[in-house]
Amino acid sequence: MKRKPKLGQNFLVDDRARHAIVDALGDIRQRTVIEIGPGHGAITDILAEKANQLIALELDRELAPGLAQRFAARPNVRIIEIDVLKADFASIVPIGETADVVGNLPYYITSDILLKLFHAGASGLLSRAVVMMQREVAARVAASPGGREYGLLSATAQMNARVEDLFTLPPSAFSPPPEVYSTVLRLDFAPRFSELGVDPERFDSFLKQIFAQKRKTLENNLRAAGFASDDLESRWPAAVPRKSRAETLSLEAMAELYHALK
Ligand code: SAM
Repeated sequence: MKRKPKLGQNFLVDDRARHAIVDALGDIRQRTVIEIGPGHGAITDILAEKANQLIALELDRELAPGLAQRFAARPNVRIIEIDVLKADFASIVPIGETADVVGNLPYYITSDILLKLFHAGASGLLSRAVVMMQREVAARVAASPGGREYGLLSATAQMNARVEDLFTLPPSAFSPPPEVYSTVLRLDFAPRFSELGVDPERFDSFLKQIFAQKRKTLENNLRAAGFASDDLESRWPAAVPRKSRAETLSLEAMAELYHALK
C-alpha cells in the first residue's frame, strides 16, 4: 500500500479489530456516522453496510477520490476531501440530530481532534465516538486522579465524556506497523459543566492554569497565573489540601476550588 507517513497513515489490517470498532458504536441503523480518516476503507466498508448515513472525512487528495468512486453507488455514503480540523460539524450533522464519530485517528493530531470532538459534544452535535489512538495518549484520556497519567487531557476529557478503554492492538495489526501500541476508546459525550455549576470556557481556562506546571502545587500554579496571595489565603476551600497538585484532585474538587476563587 502506498503511504504518506506525514499523514499518520498506518492502515488497519486486523479483520476482527475493524469489526470490533464498528460494533462498539452500537446499533447504527438509524444513525449518522462521521468517519475521520477512512484511508483505504478498512472501517468504511463495514460502516457503509450498517449506518443510516456515513460521512467520511479524508485529507489525502489521492485517497479521497478513489473512495468516492468506490462508494458512488451507495446513496448513504458521502466522502468529503477535507482536513478534519477544518470541518464544520454543525453543517455536517443533520439539523435536529446528533451524530456518532469513528476513526483510526491520524496520531499526529490526536489531541486536536479530541478537543474538537469534546467541543462538538458539548454543543449537542455528537453522542458517541469510538476512536483509536496511541496507547499512551489513551491512557492519559482515561486516567483517574492521583495516577501518574492524570493531567489536563484527562480532566478535559472527563468533563466532557464518559470514557471507556475498549481494547489495545499491537503494531502488527497495521500496515505498515507503527512504532507504538494502539488503544480504542469509547467516548460517550455527557458534559458535566452545568451539573458542577461551572462556565465551560472559564473552567477550561482554570484547568489550564492549575495544570500549567506539573510539578508545582495548585497554590503555586495559581499564583503564577496571577491570583493574589491574599485571595488564595482567605478563600481557599477547607476540603482541598493547600499543598496538593492538580493531578490529585477529582473534578468535583477542582470545581469547588474554582467556585471559591471565582
Ligand atoms: N481508517 C483507515 C484504517 O483504519 O486503515 C486509515 C487510518 S490512518 C491511521 C489515518 C487516516 O487519516 C489516513 O487515511 C490519513 O490520510 C487521514 N488523515 C490524516 N490527516 C488527516 C486530517 N487532518 N483530516 C482528515 N484525514 C486525515
